[in-house]
Amino acid sequence: MGPSHQLSRQVDLSSHPRRVEASGKTVLPGFIDSHTHLAFAGTREMEFELRLQGATYQEIAAKGGGIKSTVQKTRQAGKEELFAIGKRRLDQMLSLGTTTVEAKSGYGLSVEGEIKMLEVLRDLDRAHPADVVPTFMGAHEIPPEYAGRKDDYVRLVIEEMIPAVAEKKLAVFCDVFCEEGVFSPEDSRRILEAGRRYGLEVKIHADELTSLGGAELAAEIGAASADHLLFASEKGMERMAARGVVATLLPGTAFFLFLGRYAPARKMMERGVTVALASDFNPGSCMTQSLPLITTLACTQMRMTPAEAILGITLHAARALKKEEDIGSLEPGKQADIVILDIPDYRHLSYHFGINHVWKVVKKGRVVWENPSLP
Ligand SMILES: [Zn+2]
Repeated sequence: MGPSHQLSRQVDLSSHPRRVEASGKTVLPGFIDSHTHLAFAGTREMEFELRLQGATYQEIAAKGGGIKSTVQKTRQAGKEELFAIGKRRLDQMLSLGTTTVEAKSGYGLSVEGEIKMLEVLRDLDRAHPADVVPTFMGAHEIPPEYAGRKDDYVRLVIEEMIPAVAEKKLAVFCDVFCEEGVFSPEDSRRILEAGRRYGLEVKIHADELTSLGGAELAAEIGAASADHLLFASEKGMERMAARGVVATLLPGTAFFLFLGRYAPARKMMERGVTVALASDFNPGSCMTQSLPLITTLACTQMRMTPAEAILGITLHAARALKKEEDIGSLEPGKQADIVILDIPDYRHLSYHFGINHVWKVVKKGRVVWENPSLP
């Protein structure tokens, strides 16, 4: 990002003999959604309605809702069905300016189920203009057949799932839901260390609902990112800054769950933590793929500036995916992933919210999407 006089009035697509006239538009790096649960089957609008009427998560889970209902539907879905669902969602993301999407498994929760999800993500990456970065997240929840036997499930993740995923080269990252009632910091450490032994980079869902030491753990094991962090401790933030762990904040989730609390973005930035923003797109706690909307929430609820929010969905998100050498900013040597917006100034992305300003999307130097309603 820079003042427009430093940018060419035209976007030069050097590897292709064409130019896009972009006068009066705003040109930004393609957006990067560095935390999503893209490949789920079924949706949970009933649960949304129940939550609005005051039902708690536990009551919803007791009625067969929550992550487990998505696990059931995703286990039942065939690969073709999951691919078709994923493709449609990636199309929607591309139309909102997203050119790279991190996507997690974690609704299979069995060796076959997790492999199925990751194979769908691989196929989507091959077939779709957007890049899909796959994350193995077998430790997303304890499946019903392991109820009361968490240690056995952790063993399955470590001894069977991770080796199988690594052997098939189906994931770049290994992630874990470190939370009270799910996986403890000790479980998380064991799972992530196993992932690393098999060549996976690590991420962690940390300190979302309680302060459990997730930020400290992320720093200790040198995670690429720690995500959520609503309850991150001072010490955790300082250690993340010292270790260069990116904080991936997901204000859409806090908003959609009406938690009445957001991650302390300003405190993190004051302590030198790199702050990325992502959608957390999933059917239970954040049903949106719109990164522009996430920037508006980051500005209004976490007091980030519009420029900081744009960094959060571009360069800092690239860092959270360890891809800042290739994407996340517009500079020579990087991939030409570009979003051209029909707005007079970058601040309008967050300021004029709730509509799609994307005019054209360029991926690897090629126009891959054009807004039919903005000629
Ligand atoms: Zn998540």
